[in-house]
Amino acid sequence: MRIAVAKESRQGETRVALVPELVGKLTALGYTVVVEPGAGLGALHADEEYAAAGAEVSEAALDGAVLVVSVAPLDTTRVRSLPAGTATLSFLPVNQSLDLVADLRDCGLTSFAMELVPRISRAQSMDALSSQALVAGYRSAIVAAGLLHRFFPLNMTAAGTVPPAQVVVLGAGVAGLQAIATAKRLGAVVKAYDVRAAAAEEIRSVGAQAIELELESLEGTGGYAREMTEERAARQLDLLAPYIAAADALITTAAVPGRQAPMLVTAAMVEQMSPGSVVVDLAAESGGNVEGSVPGQVVRIGHAQVWGGANVPAQMPGPASRLYAQNIVNLVTLMTRDGAFDPDFDDEIVAGSCVTRDGTVAHEPTRAALGEETA
Ligand code: NAD
Repeated sequence: MRIAVAKESRQGETRVALVPELVGKLTALGYTVVVEPGAGLGALHADEEYAAAGAEVSEAALDGAVLVVSVAPLDTTRVRSLPAGTATLSFLPVNQSLDLVADLRDCGLTSFAMELVPRISRAQSMDALSSQALVAGYRSAIVAAGLLHRFFPLNMTAAGTVPPAQVVVLGAGVAGLQAIATAKRLGAVVKAYDVRAAAAEEIRSVGAQAIELELESLEGTGGYAREMTEERAARQLDLLAPYIAAADALITTAAVPGRQAPMLVTAAMVEQMSPGSVVVDLAAESGGNVEGSVPGQVVRIGHAQVWGGANVPAQMPGPASRLYAQNIVNLVTLMTRDGAFDPDFDDEIVAGSCVTRDGTVAHEPTRAALGEETA
């Protein structure tokens, strides 16, 4: 029973789906782990480390594998080269990958998407959205501190007192709370806002001031936010404007599942920020929380430098891979029964994360998006 660790095919992907440290967890379950040469190099893991940990390293890693693990989905060529019945486990953004999903279906592969792992307590250790958001949130605060040409902490010195930086964080989910905690540890004064009422307590618990706006909260299902109406969005923009204008660094992390990221800050609001200020938009790739931010670039709006995030967890490939690999190992453990890879499709975590199986699309919304009949 072979598990293959694929070399990533996505441009710029530095992460790897399994780190040498965790190879032993899979061999202990009875698997042979075979790694494609160079798969871990982006995360600074050499082939020799995998070999020393008990894995094989082979160009033919995917041949005969029951399961192929990766961070980004396999490309079409590789999908078409796998025999029916092979399973794949990776991120798989179904909405943006309909052609690939059709290929996975037509090739008879059993594919699982890390994004679709249900966010229930039993699945927390398998939740790669959370583990990677944690890395992105930390990185966003470090980027803001690095771009800002001033101290984050208060400094009282013989040469005078330097006041601390004022940081505002919008969106206090997993990434936002980590950004807040990191900026606080660096000594900044942090204020944060989230549309979910429960977030205010969480913001305070990591040492920041919760911005309270006179607006209804927007709790959706599963602890997520709901989309705003246009009227509420306009009110929120107005009420947030003075906080943005007073910030030295603004970090935005807001998202609504299945939708484009909400636009929370207009270019006109950024133009009110003082010279030297910094904006870090973690949502740049999914539409952007800040008008004018560009993924993977720093642009200037007014006096501010605006940094747009692009695959931010891959900017810290070591810890991001370690956490992702642990999520993968936990899922594989769940899918192993009586010493064999045998996912139980009656389990809600297995069923919820399955995209294709036995030549059909198992994920209802994707089936509808592909124009197939839904149950
Ligand atoms: P997310 O990435 O979907 O969104 C990030 C944050 O943006 C959320 O907190 C959301 O409320 C906020 N947001 C959305 N629209 C906004 C707006 N217009 N203005 C300001 N903020 C806005 O969310 P996430 O970080 O993945 O998690 C959100 C919630 O789910 C959290 O409460 C988290 O604790 C919970 N969660 C639970 C589990 C679990 O039980 N397994 C796992 C992960 C997250």
